Amino acid sequence: EHTILFLKGFMILFFSFITLRLNFCVSSIPYSLKSLPLEGHFNFDDVSHAARDFGNRYQYYPMSVLHPKSVSDIAVIIKHIWQMGPSSQLTVAARGHGHSLQGQAQAHGGLVINMESLKFPEMQVYTGNSPYVDVNGGELWINILRESLRYGLAPRSWTDYLHLTVGGTLSNAGISGQAFRHGPQISNVQQLEIVTGKGEVVSCSEEQNGELFHSVLGGLGQFGIITRARIVLEPAPSKVKWIRLLYADFTAFTRDQEKLISSGRKFDYIEGFVIINRTGLLNNWRSSFKPQDPVRASHFKSDGRTLFCLELAKYFNLEDSDAVNEEVEEHLSHLNYIPSTLFLTEVTYIDFLDRVHVSEVKLRSKGLWDVPHPWLNLFIPKSKIHDFAEGVFGKILTETNNGPILIYPVNKSKWDNRTSVVIPDEDIFYLVAFLTSAVPTSDGPQGLEYILTQNKRILEYCESARLGVKQYLPHYTAQEEWRAHFGPRWEAFLQRKSAYDPLAILAPGQRIFQKAI
Ligand code: FAD
Repeated sequence: EHTILFLKGFMILFFSFITLRLNFCVSSIPYSLKSLPLEGHFNFDDVSHAARDFGNRYQYYPMSVLHPKSVSDIAVIIKHIWQMGPSSQLTVAARGHGHSLQGQAQAHGGLVINMESLKFPEMQVYTGNSPYVDVNGGELWINILRESLRYGLAPRSWTDYLHLTVGGTLSNAGISGQAFRHGPQISNVQQLEIVTGKGEVVSCSEEQNGELFHSVLGGLGQFGIITRARIVLEPAPSKVKWIRLLYADFTAFTRDQEKLISSGRKFDYIEGFVIINRTGLLNNWRSSFKPQDPVRASHFKSDGRTLFCLELAKYFNLEDSDAVNEEVEEHLSHLNYIPSTLFLTEVTYIDFLDRVHVSEVKLRSKGLWDVPHPWLNLFIPKSKIHDFAEGVFGKILTETNNGPILIYPVNKSKWDNRTSVVIPDEDIFYLVAFLTSAVPTSDGPQGLEYILTQNKRILEYCESARLGVKQYLPHYTAQEEWRAHFGPRWEAFLQRKSAYDPLAILAPGQRIFQKAI
C-alpha cells in the first residue's frame, strides 16, 4: 500500500513538474524573442489582423506579430526558433497581403511575420537588353507595376488582382491570361533570396542552389521565406484592346481558346468565363469592363442559357493603333462566336491590369468585400474538360450569381516541372476557378453552407469521373490528402522539407506538416 501511495505521489509530482516546465517554456518565449537584436518590432497585443484572411472563414490567433525592417530581422528570429529545437512548439507564418482563402498565412499560437513591413532591399529596376526588377518578398504587385512603368517596363506574367505580394503568389504559382504565353509568375523569376527554416539566408537561382530555388517556387511557404526576388520585365505597352465574345457552344468556345493559346502572339491575354442563368450579362462584379456600345450589350438576352465568354486583350501603343485594329479584326474573323456578340473597349495598360481593384472599391463601399469566400480552383486536363463541363455547368451548378466562374487553358510547356507546384500531366490544361462570395446570413443558395456543399459535389464528381483534376491554392486537413495531391512527387516534397525546414517551423497554416515535438 505504501509503495502504491509513494508511486502515486511521485507521478503527481513528476507531471506537475513537466506541466510547470512547459508553461515556463511557453510563457518565457515572449521574453526570449523580445531580447533579440532587431531593427523592427513585435506586437503581442493587437494580433487580430493576422488571424484574418480574404477567405473569411478561418481565424487562428498568433501569439505575436513581427514587423521586420530588414532581412536580418527575419533570419535572427527563425534562427532563434530553430535553435530552441523541437521542444518549442513555436511556428512561423510569413503573411503577405493575407489574401489566402483558408488560413494558409496564419499561425495558431505562433509567430506571424508581416512581410509588408519589410522595406529593404528597396525596389530597383534594371533597364537594358534583359531588364528585370529586384523587389523584396513583401512587395505588392501593383507597386511593382507602378515603379517599372516609370521606365517603360513591366513584368510579363500576372494575377488578375494585383494587391497581392510577390512572396504570396510565388508560393503558389501566379496565373492569369498571360500564362499561356509566358507561363505563371513562377516561370518569370530569375533569382530569389530565402531565409530557410534553419534561419540561413541563401541566394538561389537556376544555377546557384537550384534545388532550393525550385523548391520554393510553388512551395506553399514550406521551405523558406522569400525575402527578395528578381523578376523579368518587358517593354510595357500604353494601351489595351479588351474584347469579349460570347459562345453558346462549349466545343466552339474551347476549340477557339485552344487554337488561340497555341498560335503565338495573336493576343496578349486569353481568359474566359461561364454565364449560367443570368440576365445582366456584362455586369460582372470582377471587372471594370465597359464596352464601347453599352446599349447593344445591354440588349443582348441570355434567356437563361449557359453561355461562355471568351475574353481577349491585345496590347498596343497609340502610334500602331490602325495596324493593330486591322490585325485584331483579322484574328477575330477566324473565331466562331455568336455573331453580334463582339464587345470591345480600349483602356490604359495599368487600368487593364488593375481591373479587379475597381470592383474591390465598389464592393467595399457596399460592405460586400469582407464576406466569406469559399473559392474552389481546379486544374483540369484538356482531354477531360468536356466531361467536366457536362457534369458541372447547368447540373451541379445551376446559376452563377454568387461570383464569376473563370475557365481558360494554359500550355504546360511554360511550367517548370522542377518547381513544387502540382499540375495535370497533359500538354494543355484548364484553370477553372469558382470565385464565389457567400452572404453570411443566408441559408439559401447564396449562403456559405450551400456553396460549400456545391464545391464538395463538384470535387466528388471529378473524383468519380476520374478526371485527373488537381486543386490550385489547395487546402487539405490530413496528410493523406496532401500525399494524394502530390502523388508521385510526395517523396521529393518530403525530402525538400527535411532539407530546408526539418523542424516544420514554417507556414503551419497550410496544414501539411506538424512541428516535431
Ligand atoms: P498570403 O495569403 O499572405 O500568403 C499565402 C501563403 O504564402 C501562406 O502560406 C504564407 O505563409 C506564404 N507566404 C506569404 N509570403 C511569403 C513569403 N514572402 N515567403 C514565403 N512564403 C510566403 N492567384 C492567381 O494565381 N491568379 C489570380 O488571378 C488570382 N487572383 C486573386 C484575386 C483575389 C481577389 C484574391 C483574394 C486572390 C487571388 N489569387 C490569385 C490567389 C493569390 O495568388 C493567393 O491567395 C496568394 O497567396 C495571395 O497572396 P498574399 O500576398 O495575400 O499571400
